[in-house]
Amino acid sequence: MPTALITGVGGQDGSYLAERLLADGVEVHALGLPDDASVDRVEMHVGDVADVVGTRALLLEVAPDEVYNLAAISSVARSWAEPDLTARVNGVAAVGLLESAWRLQDGSGRPVRFVQASSAEIFGLPDRSPQDEDTPVRPVNPYGAAKAYAHLAVDVYRRRGLHAVSLILYNHESPRRPEQFVTRKITAGVAAIADGRAERLSLGNLAAIRDWGWAPDYVEAMVLAARADVPRDYVVGTGVSHSVEEFVTAAFACVGIDDWASYVDVDPALLRPVDATDMAGDATRIRTELGWAPTVGFEDVVRRMVEADLESDGGGAQRLSSSSSR
Ligand code: GDP
Repeated sequence: MPTALITGVGGQDGSYLAERLLADGVEVHALGLPDDASVDRVEMHVGDVADVVGTRALLLEVAPDEVYNLAAISSVARSWAEPDLTARVNGVAAVGLLESAWRLQDGSGRPVRFVQASSAEIFGLPDRSPQDEDTPVRPVNPYGAAKAYAHLAVDVYRRRGLHAVSLILYNHESPRRPEQFVTRKITAGVAAIADGRAERLSLGNLAAIRDWGWAPDYVEAMVLAARADVPRDYVVGTGVSHSVEEFVTAAFACVGIDDWASYVDVDPALLRPVDATDMAGDATRIRTELGWAPTVGFEDVVRRMVEADLESDGGGAQRLSSSSSR
């Protein structure tokens, strides 16, 4: 039975990935923070990925066949507040893990496969859309800069003989997305408004454009890339982009509200110093080489998230179906 080590198992992708690997019969070990929710049948190891010495000892002890580095300060907004922490966690820690994986492979003679969860933020303000693997890496925020460092290091270790791949992930959402991300903030807010528990929703830049996919599809891409014959970097996105305003419109439509403008405030405090405006990922390479394709489109991503938020409010699902038939 192969063994995998996942860092960042407490996040949206980590939990989906652990479930995906367990279903495949993989023995799953995870590195997480003390407060991270545990996943059934996963061997949890408490520690901080930024502790390079600690994670090296763990990696050599677990001796995984596959390493998935998902641990990160995951929000651009937080990276502006804590840029140095972001550099350590999203950049230096990844290099520490790459070196540990390389040492494990070198010492054991067994191949180690390494997947780095990179991000479209490494492209910053790209001058073309959609972006692909040849788009220049030119980040414009602390999150993107740290992810870019890790992305470049993957190539360094690949040249050194490690099966290391960096997946340039576009935004991917689910009901497990925390509310500091705009999608979940919107769906939770819409559910609360539909439920009468809130009156308004406060947002920042409604014109920002993102390529939003379905998180479990992106986890599938990680597994495909880990097990591919040849290690390569891949853009993973749907190729279809929408504005925050379109997300808001779709989410309110799920609860039968068309005049959403009267429920939404734009708060200048939520605008970012620099904000990528038009992001869309051209996934042609992973589609043709590994057969990956997104399975859930934009409207369904929004609907599934609103539905989950209504259900978690208790009794909301009924209101969803009655409102959508209006
Ligand atoms: P990101 O792509 O990783 O930064 O994901 P987010 O979900 O945090 O942000 C996506 C886009 O939504 C960004 O361009 C934000 O500027 C925009 N946005 C607009 N209003 C909000 C808000 O209230 N919260 C967040 N997080 N983003 C917002």
